[in-house]
Amino acid sequence: MSNANRSETDPPNNIKQTSGDEYICPHCNKKMNKWQVPPFNFSDGLGWCTDHLYICFNDDCVFFKNSWEHMDTNYGQSMGYRAMIHPDSKESMAIPAGSVDAMKGNILDEIQEAKDRESIEKRQKAMASLTDAFIIKDIEPIIDILLAEDEWLSVRLKATEMLGDMKDLRALDALLSVELEHETIKEQRTKSIKKIHKANFTRECPSCAEVIKQRAKICKYCSKEVG
Ligand SMILES: [Zn+2]
Ligand SMILES: [Zn+2]
Repeated sequence: MSNANRSETDPPNNIKQTSGDEYICPHCNKKMNKWQVPPFNFSDGLGWCTDHLYICFNDDCVFFKNSWEHMDTNYGQSMGYRAMIHPDSKESMAIPAGSVDAMKGNILDEIQEAKDRESIEKRQKAMASLTDAFIIKDIEPIIDILLAEDEWLSVRLKATEMLGDMKDLRALDALLSVELEHETIKEQRTKSIKKIHKANFTRECPSCAEVIKQRAKICKYCSKEVG
């Protein structure tokens, strides 16, 4: 640092922004957290005019560590402050912290990470219930997952594959009627339908699409010749 008199409690003036949404703390070089500004304002009544700020939540950050002594010595207050950067002005400031854990509940990156973890757990659960149903040959819950539009694609793909492996004719209606946008699942659907027909010696009537015997010469549903 060029300025020898600069103390570690001075606001930072060398903001490093690594990418659009990432800031590095000038005091400790750790990634700053995206922090959600609470709906009420607790500092100056004017608000930060943004819904998020970047705050260094590194408890070992020298700026944060020194702040306690600084506040105590200069103001006789038992509190500290953390390095903060405003995303619009890129202005660096200090945001008061009443305790080490103050404000940590509003860290957006951690909230997002928790959500991601939850999603992975949900997917694993869905996969496990698929496997359970497959083992006891219960096609209903597997069909439900196939039809669930908000389910993970990987889970629906697995359901599609399992229905083929179960070779149960009752799965055909669901397989044929379900709206699928993803090519990989569509391909798997075609494979699964073929598998079910093969195992049951059946096929689709080319005229009316009903399921008929592989060797049928006339469709029993539409009475057309099926060759
Ligand atoms: Zn820091
Ligand atoms: Zn027919």
